[in-house]
Amino acid sequence: MSRVQRLLEELSNAHGPSGSEGPVRSIVMREMAPIADELAPDGMGSLIARLGDKDGSPRVMLTAHMDEVGLMVRYVTPEGFVKFQGLGGMLDQALINQRWVIATRKGPVLGVTGIKTTHVMSMESRNQLFRREQMFIDVGATNKQDAEERLGIQPGDPIAPDSAFTVLNGSKLYVGKAWDDRAGVGVMIEVMRSLRERPAQGTVYAAATVQEEVGLRGAHTSTFMVQPDIGINLESGVAGDYPGTNMDEAQEKLGQGPGLFLHDSSMLPNLRLRDFIMDTAKEIGIPVQFNVLSGYGQDGSEMQKSSGGIPVINLTVPTRYLHSHYSLMHRDDFDRAVTLTAEVVRRMDGDMVARLKRFD
Ligand SMILES: [Zn+2]
Repeated sequence: MSRVQRLLEELSNAHGPSGSEGPVRSIVMREMAPIADELAPDGMGSLIARLGDKDGSPRVMLTAHMDEVGLMVRYVTPEGFVKFQGLGGMLDQALINQRWVIATRKGPVLGVTGIKTTHVMSMESRNQLFRREQMFIDVGATNKQDAEERLGIQPGDPIAPDSAFTVLNGSKLYVGKAWDDRAGVGVMIEVMRSLRERPAQGTVYAAATVQEEVGLRGAHTSTFMVQPDIGINLESGVAGDYPGTNMDEAQEKLGQGPGLFLHDSSMLPNLRLRDFIMDTAKEIGIPVQFNVLSGYGQDGSEMQKSSGGIPVINLTVPTRYLHSHYSLMHRDDFDRAVTLTAEVVRRMDGDMVARLKRFD
């Protein structure tokens, strides 16, 4: 197994719902430590790596969020079942009959979301959607005291989806949870590794951010710390290449190269930056796809609104079935996203930043 595949497996399997990104942060810290010239968390827990001179120019910022969608303990019922609050947007249907891990002060606790069996369900309720308010997590506790004292479960404890990374049937497709945005975190680590070998002209900051899924909160504070001249957000894209989706909803396809978002509900990118990336991609022979989404939000919008406004774009690894226990990405898209991003950052100089920011 390749080093990169092992890293992606580790990133996908790591549990890190919004606000509890610790296990992911440890991986990023371990990987960035030998690469970065400086590595420090901000006051919310985002991890910022710097490569190059502190006073170098331009200041290029990469972001990728460490958190994933998940749940949080609301309270434990007298019978010992865990009721929960959602962290980020998962469909209610995606929560049913899954494995979860609750991170307690006594360690990880495995649980499952069960619902009533069809044997006792009325015909009417068989055809109804189950709402999250009706759901609970079964941790095998005998009562509330057992759950709290023996297992250490407390209100506020994070609950992460639990599913193991797999390569899908000898293909180049990787199945795993949390490609949103561990794919981006992986790209960011590998881009920094590449820039360590062949440096950029200015200073590069890589921020592994927290709490993106609950409102782009970590990107807000880490951008304030960095004060970038230009930004590239690295994300999981949205593929529209499977039954039930269409081109009007999402345009990315797995295996056809990294994506560039031209519209989402949080940001319009700098179009000259789009052109610069497309020109670079063409020169080095990497296919690129566009995506125009109606919804979605991403950390790039926090960078864009910083420092009086800066050029930013969202560059993606196309992904199927986001915000669930099983999402899919294509290894070639990942590798090409790394190569392209590294080359774009390497070519970025002060003149280019000035050109991107000229409004005439
Ligand atoms: Zn994301």
